Amino acid sequence: MISTAPSTTPSAAPFLRVRNLVKAFGSFVALNDISLDVREGEFVCFLGPSGCGKTTLLRAIAGLDLQTSGMIEQAGRDISVLPPSQRDFGIVFQSYALFPNLTIARNVAYGLESQRLPRAEIDRRVAELLDLVGLPEQGTKYPAQLSGGQQQRIALARAIATSPGLLLLDEPLSALDAKVRVHLRHEIKALQRRLGVTTIMVTHDQEEALSMADRIVVMNHGVIDQIGTPTEIYREPATLFVADFIGAMNRLPVVIVDADHVRLGETILQCRPHDLSVDAEATLAIRPEDVVPVESGGSRPKGGNRFDVTVHALEFLGSFWRAVLTGPAFGAVEVEADFSVNAIRRLDIADGMAMAVELPVDRLHVFAGRDASGGDADG
Ligand code: ATP
Repeated sequence: MISTAPSTTPSAAPFLRVRNLVKAFGSFVALNDISLDVREGEFVCFLGPSGCGKTTLLRAIAGLDLQTSGMIEQAGRDISVLPPSQRDFGIVFQSYALFPNLTIARNVAYGLESQRLPRAEIDRRVAELLDLVGLPEQGTKYPAQLSGGQQQRIALARAIATSPGLLLLDEPLSALDAKVRVHLRHEIKALQRRLGVTTIMVTHDQEEALSMADRIVVMNHGVIDQIGTPTEIYREPATLFVADFIGAMNRLPVVIVDADHVRLGETILQCRPHDLSVDAEATLAIRPEDVVPVESGGSRPKGGNRFDVTVHALEFLGSFWRAVLTGPAFGAVEVEADFSVNAIRRLDIADGMAMAVELPVDRLHVFAGRDASGGDADG
């Protein structure tokens, strides 16, 4: 059986330690003092827009591009300046990078052959690996005879063939079409769980990161903005950039009134306690799905950020409806709200209708300033 680590709950001790990593290309600083820990058995995603430095960080961990300064330790060993051949990882790139002139079996066997294992042992492992990635019959074919998704599975089999301690995935799904991509997400995740191999995947696709990672490292302009579980990152974004980059978010320009109130135009809203200075410009953020329709005669308490609004541009998006809301309390600001199909039916919500909504205090995020300063979030 191929195994790289016990597939139990990840232990607390960091398997990979990155400390104060800096990478400069001439005067351009691509990584600026990056520190992070990855636990054994964890699946971590580096997520961020194009150019934020995620590939540079992955390549430094692999030793493919040495950092300018800083330290990297894997399994208690300082690997900071070791060449890739002396590090312990398998890697899958965006482009399949299989050897076109070798059969699938020889491609998978590549790392095993350089370990000079007996032929029978290699053949057995190759068969096992092809089985593991769901392509047991394809060994005698050549890469060009396989689909993109199949080639990426072979690249994965090749990367784990020697049971490396660390699996590095550099946008492994982004060249594939949407359906194959979603399918392979599940397969890679299941395989990673089964093998328990510590894995780092670079992606600019937030959905991919949210659905696959145990923890996400959100990067922006060469620094880490936040490290957290998918739920933490989504529910409690640490910065306006993270809030903007992941999921949909309304951004309302406000001024700080006191420790738990802000002012939007002439309207005072209650928010969670923050430590921004009185009169400072800030941004109040709320996700469209967190805007709550108020049932007339319902049992929700009065007050607490309840506002009269008018519904516009109601749009059916499959599992929910998105509406644009305006109202005297919001001034010129438009607020997007997602209403469930049930809420639409129950409250008979329609374009042009007047209704009331609540912006729940615990779903409001207050960030300093008005600018996400995140560069392009188009990934
Ligand atoms: P993408 O998703 O587009 O690959 P990324 O977040 O992986 O983005 P990197 O490839 O890590 O970004 O690049 C980070 C920054 O460093 C970019 O601004 C890039 O232009 C710059 N950079 C990367 N490699 C080099 C190089 N060899 N020489 C000069 N600048 C570089």
